[in-house]
Amino acid sequence: MTLDNIKTKGLCGLNGSTPAAVIEDHDQDDAADSITHARSEYLAEIYRLQTSTEEPITTTALAMRLDVTPPAVVRMMRRLAHEGFLKRQPYKGVRLTPEGEREALKSIRRHRLLEAFLVTVMKFSWDEVHTHAHGLEPAINDQFEDRMDELAGYPKRCPHGDPIPSKDGVMPILNDESLTQFPIGTKAVISRIRNHTPEKLRYFAELQLFPGTSISLVGRAPFKGPVRIKNGTGEHVLGAELAEQILIEA
Ligand SMILES: [Zn+2]
Ligand SMILES: [Zn+2]
Repeated sequence: MTLDNIKTKGLCGLNGSTPAAVIEDHDQDDAADSITHARSEYLAEIYRLQTSTEEPITTTALAMRLDVTPPAVVRMMRRLAHEGFLKRQPYKGVRLTPEGEREALKSIRRHRLLEAFLVTVMKFSWDEVHTHAHGLEPAINDQFEDRMDELAGYPKRCPHGDPIPSKDGVMPILNDESLTQFPIGTKAVISRIRNHTPEKLRYFAELQLFPGTSISLVGRAPFKGPVRIKNGTGEHVLGAELAEQILIEA
């Protein structure tokens, strides 16, 4: 495994990568680099998981999200706890310390800013940028990040609608919920699209379903059946799973 290989791997955990599994078998510089990677990736993922629960985050949950083996997760947890980024609760799991949270938000900010920059300035489409951002994250520094921020016009959201934490580490609170939680007849604006899979994003784009688009919920089949929605381009039927991934401003 070369360093180049590792650099093209993911960092925010949405694509699944294996940093912890690969850090043991190369020379010291490479190892230090990929540990930094893996650290950011783990912290960002724990942050994401812990925002939706008060409970400690389990090894199993992390192993699944990061697509690594549970023993690799345990090794990394030990290291991160030792470095002061998280607190371990024996047999239960982990939570981030304030220091860990700061690091996680830094990494999330960088990822989302890169995505915004790639769309606004470099004119990539929204289905391409998640992977590029992953690859670029470890290659840029704070100064580079500031310049991107400026050139992209100080964006508040990534192209998928996710909020960009401020430079001093504050994550904006969004008041949005899945479309499927609302009654028929609801009219609202799309806040974000939760899925970053390129094929699905292209499909959403085909139907003109972007953050900022006004839509109304027209109908819903029972027992988690398909959902009917309407926007400027007409009426569309979406599978329950896709509809679930559209968040609207409550
Ligand atoms: Zn992304
Ligand atoms: Zn995004």
